[in-house]
Formats: sequence, structure tokens, C-alpha cells
Amino acid sequence: MSVSRMTHQFPSLTAEQKKELSDIAQRIVAPGKGVLAADESTGTMGKRLEKINVENVEENRRCFRNLLFSADPSMSNCIGGVIFFHETLYQKADSGKLFPQVIKDQGIVVGIKVDKGTAGLTGTNDETTTQGLDGLSERCAQYKKDGCDFAKWRCVLKISDGCPSALSIAENANVLARYASICQKNGLVPIVEPEILTDGNHDLQRCQYVTEKVLAAVYKALSDHHVYLEGTLLKPNMVTAGQACTTKYTPQQVAMATVTALRRTVPAAVPGICFLSGGQSEEEASRNLSAINQVPLHRPWKLTFSYGRALQASALSAWQGKAANKAAAQEAFYTRAKINGLAAKGEYKPTGSADTASMQSLYTASYVY
Ligand code: 13P
Repeated sequence: MSVSRMTHQFPSLTAEQKKELSDIAQRIVAPGKGVLAADESTGTMGKRLEKINVENVEENRRCFRNLLFSADPSMSNCIGGVIFFHETLYQKADSGKLFPQVIKDQGIVVGIKVDKGTAGLTGTNDETTTQGLDGLSERCAQYKKDGCDFAKWRCVLKISDGCPSALSIAENANVLARYASICQKNGLVPIVEPEILTDGNHDLQRCQYVTEKVLAAVYKALSDHHVYLEGTLLKPNMVTAGQACTTKYTPQQVAMATVTALRRTVPAAVPGICFLSGGQSEEEASRNLSAINQVPLHRPWKLTFSYGRALQASALSAWQGKAANKAAAQEAFYTRAKINGLAAKGEYKPTGSADTASMQSLYTASYVY
């Protein structure tokens, strides 16, 4: 091949920038640590609060986040990063300290959701892409100044007849790669999240096949966009059967399908893979993660959690919006965080005493975050 036709990478990140990004990523997924996804948009938070009859106003949203962020000083042993929503980043704890500072003071890394939600792809069977690239570089620069060191962007794909389409796979892979390269330029580690929803009656094998195709496209796009993989994290769905599938699978089967799909598609340079919980119950999400970390195959990345619903459901139901329940809610949250920290090391052994809230499915059809 002549020299002129060879691909050439123009200088992008300096050695210092790369080191900073990879150090941040390593801190978030240090052994036994995962991510608390507390970045529900105002609308999504409203749905959570509605379930416990709490009004969706700024002070109530602040109160719940205050409770989580001040749960227990040892929280930093199992939580390496917290993802914020824009509003929360500028709110203060009861102590008067800004929330990002409260998190940083515990040695936990602060992250920010930077996407602006999904938009329909015309001519498809209700498939979507994710918006938010306009002005993203400027927003990232500001978030970095305001204490953030990582970001999240969620793309959504679904399994049904003809879905995900080639268009949706290509479009979502490309937008994730554009987002990731913009984040890295601004010193933020991008969490790359191509979520395949569990809606549908497909079996485990179908989910594994689709997950492999989606992840292969994502890593091709990240390479095309010159993204520095050591300074990224992946947030995928676990490979599970659809919600309406009549065959039930064990955590060991889910774990084997998940690790197999990841080994086939995710480069070893990626430091960590932190799963979303995607509507699994708290217990299910913990058992599956522990089983994933026991699969007898080489796993070159950290395999941990970045849960929203599966870390907050018991806490929300213990809280009920009442100040008197604050300690109980904090205890419920800290219990799940510790369990998931163990699961991230393959060491969670269920005792059988899981309370009812932790066994309840957290599934919502076509979930919007
Ligand atoms: P769930 O764990 O509730 O699926 O949410 C995680 C998340 O951040 C989705 O973007």
C-alpha cells in the first residue's frame, strides 16, 4: 500500500491527557467498586417519587440525593463513582457543601449525564438515536471546571422483528463515538452506554447475538473516531432473555452468555465494564453480577455495576419522603452498595433473607432514563 493511502492518526491527546483519563477510569472501577447512577432526569425522578407519593419538586429531589450521598463514610469502599444529573451538580447538602464536593471528599469520582435523551429515527420501527452533540464540547469543559471527571451518554436499542436495524446499530455506534471523543478532549472519561432493552419475548441466545453485533459496531466506531480505549468505560446490558420470554435462565447461564459476548467484542484495553441494571430486581442484579465474576474464562477487564434502579429501589421505599425514615433509607442503600461491591469480586453469597422490596422486578416497558 502506498504511503499516501495509509491511515494516519493526527495528534489528538497528549501523553498527560491519556494518563489522566486512564487514571480516572481505573479509580472508578478499582477492585470491589462500582458506580451509583443517580442521574435520573427530573421527569424520571418524578416517576420514582410518584410511587412513594412524594411530590416531584426540587427540594424533594435534593433531599433524596442528600440521603444517598451522606449514607455512610465507608460507602467509598464500594462506590468508585457517582453519576449526577445537571440539577444535582449545583445543589447543596444539608451541611451547605455542594454535592460534588461531598462526593469528592469521600474519594469518589464525580460524573455527569451529558446526553439530552432520545429522538426517533424516521422510517424505522420506533427506533431511536440519542441527541446532545450540539454544544457538547463547551458543556464538557464547564463540567470539568465544576468538578466532574467522567460522563455518561445513553443510547437505546431494542430487540423485535427486524430490530435493531442496521441503521440504528450504525447511528448509535457513531453518536457514542463522537460523544466519547469530545469528552476525552475535555478531560472527561466517557462511559459508553449502548443499552439493549429487555422488552420482548426473545431468548438468551438472541440477546447474546444482538449484544455481540451492537458492541462490535460500537468498538469499530470508537476506533474510527480515534478514541483512547484505556480512558473509557463500557456500560452495557447484561445478556438476559426478554421480559416476556417463557424460558427462565439461571444466573450462571446469564453470566456465561454475557462474558462470552463481551470476550468476543470488547478489547482488553478497556479498563472496566459496568453493567446497567435495566429493570432487574436488586437481588437479581447482584446475583447475576456475582455469577459474571465467577465465569471460568479469562476476563481482562473489571466487571462491575453502574446501577440506578437496583441501588435505589429499597432506599426509596424505606424513605417514603419522611425525615424520620432517613436513617433506614440510608441503611437500605448502603446494604445494596456493599452487596454489589462483593458481587463485583464474585463474592456475594445470598443469605435468603432478602426483603420483599429487593426481590421486586423494577421493569418498565420501553424505559426512558
Ligand atoms: P438502571 O440501572 O436503572 O438500568 O440505570 C442505569 C443507568 O444509568 C441507565 O442509563
